[in-house]
Amino acid sequence: MIKHLIYFIIVGILLSFNQPSGKIPTEKKIIDFIIKNKQDQLKLLERLVNINSETSNVEGVKKNGELIKSELEAIGFNVSWHDLPSEMHHAGSLVATIKGSSRKKILIIGHLDTVFPIDSPFQRFILSPDHKYATGPGVIDAKGGTVTILYAMKALHHIGELKNANITIVFTGDEELAAKPTSISRKTLIDIANDSDIALGFEFALSPNELIVGRRGLDEWFLNSTGKSQHSAAIFQPDTGFGAVYEIARVLNEIRQNLSTTPGLTINAGLLLGGQKINENIETGTGSATGRKTIVPAIAYAHGDMRFLSDQQRNEAQKNMVQILTHSLQGTNSSISFKPIIPPMQATKSNDDLLALYSIINQRLGHSAIKAASPELRGGADISYTTPYIKAGLDGLGPWGKGAHTEAETLEIEALTIATQRTALFILNYIKQ
Ligand SMILES: [Zn+2]
Repeated sequence: MIKHLIYFIIVGILLSFNQPSGKIPTEKKIIDFIIKNKQDQLKLLERLVNINSETSNVEGVKKNGELIKSELEAIGFNVSWHDLPSEMHHAGSLVATIKGSSRKKILIIGHLDTVFPIDSPFQRFILSPDHKYATGPGVIDAKGGTVTILYAMKALHHIGELKNANITIVFTGDEELAAKPTSISRKTLIDIANDSDIALGFEFALSPNELIVGRRGLDEWFLNSTGKSQHSAAIFQPDTGFGAVYEIARVLNEIRQNLSTTPGLTINAGLLLGGQKINENIETGTGSATGRKTIVPAIAYAHGDMRFLSDQQRNEAQKNMVQILTHSLQGTNSSISFKPIIPPMQATKSNDDLLALYSIINQRLGHSAIKAASPELRGGADISYTTPYIKAGLDGLGPWGKGAHTEAETLEIEALTIATQRTALFILNYIKQ
């Protein structure tokens, strides 16, 4: 029943989006406003980029947030910081809300932090001589997304429609390295998702005509194998068995045999230790093992990750891995534990429907149709935490460019205008449903 209802709503939206008569006057006003304010938008981006805001630079992240806070307050948003406990040493989230009469509640997600530390040589916004490109830390990931959100809101304010919308914007302060546990650092985001219909994520776009409808989830796993510590001369004998190292090799090999061809699923054994004693330092990604060639190893250990397209795929893979442990080699034993890190943003039909709406808008703006980027290529992002709670989501709505997370991070400046225009038009049409 609900499925049918959603279907009719979507069809209704598609029909109203698909106006054959071209751009209506309010839309024209939005498009013009964004073009007229291009330079201001770029100037603000420059200011944001020039303030270092690596995740651990709480002061810098907050400074970025304060700049946006005053801009949003000026157009009627109620804005406040949702801080994290001080022992988490991260900046928390900036939350901006406008409560209009629209029945559609939209959650917009951006982030304030970058991966570039305060002592990195990459600190400044630089415009190319032809003014077509800009480089700088966070210029697409995700400060370009921040000014896209802001100027889309300004455009809606300019035509008097913002006050009717029901929008909450969450700028997290630690997307690049979420404070643990995420049950605390993502609580604000999840609570708001719980009270929203859709989520729109402003991570950078991969290209002008691709958006993200799905992202893979991420777990980690810890595999332990044990064996009987005996003189090596007794290995392969019934009393001694095969030792922990042969056993862990068997388990890993069977994981590869059983699960390496499942589309969308990857399982990586990132660190492997074996011998008489082992020790891993997870923080530093180092480990040590002691053992002798003449002693059958008593212990072996592997630490790895798993990426998956859906909870179902994850559950099936985990079941398969546990099953592999049930037929250990003689004289050995294995156990495994899993820890969820980030849930998958499942690529659903509802997400595809949102993409279709965005695509129609894009075409009305004179650009090409938009397709879904392959979820296999996309890791987790903040929108992933919201997907269990919302009806539909779409990510990669920021401008495009290249080189995110490297010192070649570059924005295509024209992308800023297009991303902003299509965001404002999408919201204008969506809130009227
Ligand atoms: Zn990002």
